[in-house]
Parts: sequence; C-alpha cells; structure tokens
Amino acid sequence: MSDTLNSGEHRTVLLRGGEVHSPADPFATAMVVERGHIAWVGEEGAADAFAAGVDEVIDLEGALVTPAFVDAHVHTTATGFALTGLDLSAAASLAEAAELIRAHAAARPGDRILIGHGWDASRWPERRPLAREELDDLTGGRPLYLTRIDVHSAVVTTALLDLVPGVRDLDGFHDGRAPLTGDAHHAVRAAAFAAVSPLQRTEAQRAARAHAASLGIGTLHECGGPQISSEDDFTGLLDLARGEPGPRVVGYWADLDVERARALGALGAAGDLFADGSLGSHTACLHEPYADSAGHSGSAHLDAAAIAAHVVACTETGLQAGFHAIGDAAVTAVVDGVRAAAEKLGLARIRAARHRVEHAEMLTAETVAAFAELGLT
Ligand SMILES: [Zn+2]
Repeated sequence: MSDTLNSGEHRTVLLRGGEVHSPADPFATAMVVERGHIAWVGEEGAADAFAAGVDEVIDLEGALVTPAFVDAHVHTTATGFALTGLDLSAAASLAEAAELIRAHAAARPGDRILIGHGWDASRWPERRPLAREELDDLTGGRPLYLTRIDVHSAVVTTALLDLVPGVRDLDGFHDGRAPLTGDAHHAVRAAAFAAVSPLQRTEAQRAARAHAASLGIGTLHECGGPQISSEDDFTGLLDLARGEPGPRVVGYWADLDVERARALGALGAAGDLFADGSLGSHTACLHEPYADSAGHSGSAHLDAAAIAAHVVACTETGLQAGFHAIGDAAVTAVVDGVRAAAEKLGLARIRAARHRVEHAEMLTAETVAAFAELGLT
C-alpha cells in the first residue's frame, strides 16, 4: 500500500473500510490522500462522494491506519549492529557458535572490527564460553567483540585487547576463558566501537532506519553523546537521513556544552546526559539505600545547580535540555534544577521549551505533578 502512495506523487487515493486513527475525527473509517498529503478524513457515507473523483480506491479491509510512530530514544548505530552483526543467540553449542564466528569473519573481510552478541554458555553442553586463543584462531587474529546475551560481559580477541593499552590492569580483566566484566569490559567496548569503519557504521545506520520504516516508525530520536557514541557517528547519521529516503532523524546530543550540541546539528543538548546510572548496576540514584546492597544508594552525576545552569543555557539558546534520570533522587534533582531555571527565566519560557527526561523510572506523586507544571516530557 505504501508503494502505491509513494510512487503516485500526483495521484489522488481514497482509502476506505478501515479504522482511521486521528484526533480530527475519532470515528473516521476513510481518508483521501492527494499529492502525498492527507486531504480529508471522515466516515464511510461521506467517502462515496470522493469515490468517482479519485485515481484509486483502496479497500482497507478493516485495517487500522495511524500516523507514523516516533521512537523517542534510539541508539541507531548500535541498533543496526544488533540487526546486521553476528547473532549467536541461536547457537546450541560452543562448536556451533565457533562455526558461526568463522563464517562471519570469512564473509566480512573488509571489516576492521567484527561485532557480535547473544552467546550464552550456560545453555551449551560444553558449559564454557569460547577462550581467547580459540577466538584468535577463528578470526585469523582480527579484532572481535562478542557480548554475552545480557550485554554486561564480553569475550574478545587478543587483537582487540591490543587496541586498549592498560586493559590488563583494569577491574574485570580476566585472562584465559572468563569473559571481561566491569571497567575492562567498558574500555574494550569503547575501543571496539571506535574501531568501526565509516562504511560499517553507515551500513548499520541504514539497516536500523530500514527496520524502523518496516515497523511504521516515521521519526527516530537519536540519543548520541561524547560518552556513548561519537561526533562522526552523530553527524554521519544526520547527513544520511537528509540524503536518503526513510525515517526522519532528530538528533539529541548529551553534552553540557550547549554550543557544541548546536554546532553538531542537535535539536537538544539532551538524551543520555547522565544524572545517575542504572538500577541493574545499583548506580541509579535513590533517596533510600538499595534493599539488596546495604548502605548503597547509587551515584549522582549532576546536582540540581548543574541541572539548573544547563536548562538556563539551553533555553536561552533555543535548544531542548534533557537528562537521563532513573532513581527517585535523580528525578528530584532534575525537577529541582528545572524549577530553579524557571525561577530565573520565567515558567512560561521553560514550559515552552519542552525539556525532556529520559527513563524517569521512579516517579512519585510530587515529581509527576512537577513534570506537568514545568512542561517536562
Ligand atoms: Zn539511551
């Protein structure tokens, strides 16, 4: 159906017999598309008046028609690698995983780094992950990064370790068969993504956009930043989205440097700008200690004063501000910071800027009310 609509730029098409979801008419069953724009939405009876005048009538057969979806928090390149990279989640044994790795390496001779995911040694009869020497052998000595199914640990080749000076001294480094965890894993992950070639990256971004389009997603909000992606990755994606058909990409750059975010083409100095960490790693910032981690209540990366300063700078520059905030104490810090900014610039200006909070997993009645008052999304 979308082919019909896209190819017929100048055609007029009546779609009828469906459920057309629109605030203009909650009971609409039909719509007319003229030159790529919706010209009319309404009910079956009124559709008859259009039937004779259009180039084509499409029977929706009861299908639901909605506006295209917006995915408001995407890491496009990583999504692309998950779609196109080596997927070991179906490997039933270590031997089967090894064969998949060998075939993937052979099929991609031009890739500077091989990336894969999804292995789970607890389901394999061998009951152990692949050892480093085995991976070296399977890849012919190339850099390889393979995350476990939960993505919190990884096995890698010697060639990848060689790209990370000092990795052997970091927490979470294990020689031999045990996967890398903690700091060693994070350092290796950063090196792996830094080694991705521009062509590999563009392919991954294309795959992610195509997949989004296939799901009816018309806009992606890319959440990039100096700590989680790279400037090249971010500007490359925005260029790609401008140059090729597919979902629109709106860029959010997680940086306190508001001018930098604007220079890169971001709509907000926002996204994964970390006010705290995550619940799984006990780093989300809480008012009370974790029940399963005595005396520990997470970590705050930004206080209310830093948040207020950022919101003021963004509002004055005409950009959205936004923060990654998961724990209740982090959400409180964001609300306090945005409220302080409103006291300085006026509530109306802050509300109009529609600043954002990502995740917001531990809201209270007070913070929900504050989101509404401050116009936070
Ligand atoms: Zn994110």
